[in-house]
Amino acid sequence: LFVSFEGGEGAGKSTQIRLLAEALRERGHDVVVTREPGGSPGAEALRHVLLSGAAEPFGIRMEALLFAAARADHLACFVRPALARGQIVLCDRFVDSSRVYQGVTGNLEPKLMAALERVSVAGTMPDLTLILDLPAEMGLDRARRRAGATASAAQPDRFEKERTEVHEKRRQGFLDIAAREPLRCRVIDASLDMDRIARDILADVTLVLAQ
Ligand code: C5P
Repeated sequence: LFVSFEGGEGAGKSTQIRLLAEALRERGHDVVVTREPGGSPGAEALRHVLLSGAAEPFGIRMEALLFAAARADHLACFVRPALARGQIVLCDRFVDSSRVYQGVTGNLEPKLMAALERVSVAGTMPDLTLILDLPAEMGLDRARRRAGATASAAQPDRFEKERTEVHEKRRQGFLDIAAREPLRCRVIDASLDMDRIARDILADVTLVLAQ
């Protein structure tokens, strides 16, 4: 089973992934947790390039190509082998982040985005995508508090510096994907408290596991 988590900054993806992994392991499932960009040595090298801003001078098109390259490597080296072993793969961000960050707010041509997606994904899509949805301002507040609370996050990556309108546009982008692909996507109300969100997510995953 391949599950991806999507949402804007401060939506609580990493916390919820950790809680879901614990709950599934308690039920005897073999679970691996991974993230994009990254998740394999080649893709982690590209993550560094992408999040440090080193690729920024070369433009959004280059950025989208690097995300696609990272995704192809991550799928080939980590995700597909894990799925083949029968493991449950929980992935922090996947193709919907590209659709939204580079496609919707990056304004890249839909044709280019579709072509990159086809090549990078090569037929491997999540069985379930959980979209953690909350108002942009709330997510930004949470992300700011997190940045203030830990020394390692004191330097927010360049994407996190963008303004609320951009975040609201991304939120709508994720909701549009969920509306277009209701079989794959579930929208989770991420403004609720942590335990409630975790219960909602576990309920959705349990349903898909039973199918
Ligand atoms: O930890 P988090 O998943 O929030 O950080 C990854 C960063 O990479 C985010 O700030 C997000 O803005 C960016 N990203 C992106 N395009 C993708 C995936 C991630 O711009 N396809």
